[in-house]
Amino acid sequence: MGSVPGPAHLGDLYEKSLDCVHCGLCLSTCPTYRETGRENSSPRGRIYLMRGVAEGRIPLSDTVVDEAFLCLGCRACETACPSGVQFGAMLEETRAEVENRGARRGAPVRLERIGLRVVANARVLHAAFSLLGLAQRFRLDRAVLPLLPRSLRAAHAMLPSVPPAADRAPLPEFTPAVGEVRGRVGFLSGCVMSELFGTVNRATLRVLAHNGFEVVVPREQGCCGALHAHGGDATRAQQLLRHNMRAFAGVDTIVVNSAGCGASMRGAQDWLPGEGAAYASKVRDVSEFLDAAGLRAPAGRIDARVCYDDPCHLVHGQQVAAAPRRLLEAIDGLELVAHRDAASCCGAAGIYNLTHPDMSAAVLDRKLDALAEADPDVIATGNPGCLMQIRGGVAKRGLRALVVHPVELLDEAYRAGHAG
Ligand code: SF4
Ligand code: SF4
Repeated sequence: MGSVPGPAHLGDLYEKSLDCVHCGLCLSTCPTYRETGRENSSPRGRIYLMRGVAEGRIPLSDTVVDEAFLCLGCRACETACPSGVQFGAMLEETRAEVENRGARRGAPVRLERIGLRVVANARVLHAAFSLLGLAQRFRLDRAVLPLLPRSLRAAHAMLPSVPPAADRAPLPEFTPAVGEVRGRVGFLSGCVMSELFGTVNRATLRVLAHNGFEVVVPREQGCCGALHAHGGDATRAQQLLRHNMRAFAGVDTIVVNSAGCGASMRGAQDWLPGEGAAYASKVRDVSEFLDAAGLRAPAGRIDARVCYDDPCHLVHGQQVAAAPRRLLEAIDGLELVAHRDAASCCGAAGIYNLTHPDMSAAVLDRKLDALAEADPDVIATGNPGCLMQIRGGVAKRGLRALVVHPVELLDEAYRAGHAG
């Protein structure tokens, strides 16, 4: 990896690859293997390729690069693996190596890099969403749609309307607790969450406050760097990580409501060995945090059948599956309905639905089949990419379910209790 510090050392990649004993138990859980049936597109096949690259036996050819980026990074293989393979870390190391050697080229790759630069800068991102909001309001986005590349047209179909300015305004720097104070936490407002899911962020603050927690939202925080780490931009991922480490230095716990951000922040020690560990240990998904703290039971009811859908970066990346279900079950009237594909990827995977629209759509289709079968009133999932992807899929299929973040249901139940 040359001058870039962090996880992308081929010796480290080689060491990690030795954990794989080639048993194949992960294959049936891998969305890209399920779609293609190709060994190279399976976890075991990819590990073979990555190990070959680390040993210098296999060149960093188009096949290796294509497979490294066809992988969704969903980490379902980690959950299935009895041997403790750290697939997510290996994948990020490989992608960083690909970027470092300039092995990925072409217009879509340049577009992707521009997009990631925009995401890294909160002001530029805010301006970009303001422009998009204007274009949506005057339907200019539809006018230019035929001129856009296919991947951007597919992304447009998933993109929600940009919310009004009030929802995109900065969160209060301090939210007081309601009732007896149980503690103080920091909150990651996030880049995409702030622009497209401001209402979810505000609901999260209210739910934390209602549970007795003071919430600090450091003004100087920025993007967590997850998308950059997934895309192989090690340098920028490390810069963003360091920036937020300083921003959150004053709190012991950082609550996150975006599973992708939380998983990446929890992997900080891989990117910044030594200094990243303390930061990583502070991070908690909001569901895990409230469940561990002991949820104050909501007084209001929600009469609805709800399917909870696990974001990959929560269930596989952070091993959090029971906590969000327990929180939802604490709401009176709410019936939690299982569906058979809850822990599989929805195909959003960061910007995967932009870079690999066909595979993303095929992966989403399986999920929608399972959800259509369960026929819930509401689908709850705790990650912005999953919210957009599943909402887009539900609309396209004509399913009747609302798609929301679990904290929105908790917030609604607390509000209904107050109103009652
Ligand atoms: S991360 Fe997901 S897509 Fe990639 S190899 Fe593992 S299971 Fe397959
Ligand atoms: S990654 Fe794990 S489950 Fe998959 S083949 Fe290797 S050892 Fe087996």
